[in-house]
Amino acid sequence: MTIQKATNITWHEGALNKQDREKLLDQKGVVIWFTGLSGSGKSTIAHAIEEELFKRGHLSFVLDGDNIRHGLNKNLGFSPEDREENIRRIGEVAKLFADAGLITMTAFISPYLKDRDNNRHLLKEGEFIEVFMKVSLPEAEKRDPKGLYKKARAGEIKEFTGIDAPYEEPLDPELTIDTDALDLDESKDMVIRYLEEKDIIKKA
Ligand code: ADP
Repeated sequence: MTIQKATNITWHEGALNKQDREKLLDQKGVVIWFTGLSGSGKSTIAHAIEEELFKRGHLSFVLDGDNIRHGLNKNLGFSPEDREENIRRIGEVAKLFADAGLITMTAFISPYLKDRDNNRHLLKEGEFIEVFMKVSLPEAEKRDPKGLYKKARAGEIKEFTGIDAPYEEPLDPELTIDTDALDLDESKDMVIRYLEEKDIIKKA
C-alpha cells in the first residue's frame, strides 16, 4: 500500500477531456500491458507494433523496462518491494499517457499478479489490455538476447525472474501469445487484429 502523503490537493479537470483527445487522434487511449519472462519478446513486439501503428497514422508510445529504470525509477532495485513500486509507478504513468489519448505499451516482466491487477484497476473496463508473452524457460534461455540468463545461471545476477525469482502467469489475460510457436509478425498481427476488433484503431 502506498500512503498518500500530500494533503489539500484537488484533481483539476480542464475543459478538454480524454474523449476530445481521442477524437483528435482518431483512436482510443489504452494501455497494452505486455508481461512475460525476460526474452519473451515484450520489447520487440511493442516496438514492432509502434512502427506499424505509426505507418497507419496512429500515435503510440512504448514504456520500456531498462529505460524507465535509468530515469523515473533509478532509485529502485529488484527486491519484491522495489519491483512492486516500479510497476506501480509505471501503471500511473501509463494511465496518464492513455489519458492523453495514446496507445500506450508497457514492456516489463511485471512478475506479480497483484501488481498487474492493481494497474488494471486504475483504468476503465476495456482500457487495460493484458498480453501474456508466453515462452518456455528453455526457449527464453536459448534466445537470451541480453546474456542475462547466462549471468543468472552463473550466479552473477541474483533474484532473476524464472531462475531464482518467481513469475506469476496471468489467469485471464486479454491475449496470450505463444512465442515458442509464433514468429514476430504473427504475434504482432494478433495484437493489431485485437485493436481493430475492439475499435481502438480503424481497420486497415
Ligand atoms: P523482452 O523484452 O521480453 O525481455 P526482447 O524483446 O528483448 O524480450 O527479446 C526477445 C527475443 O525473442 C528477440 O530476439 C526476438 O527477435 C525474439 N522473438 C522470437 N519470437 C518472438 C515473438 N513471437 N515475438 C517477439 N519476439 C520474438
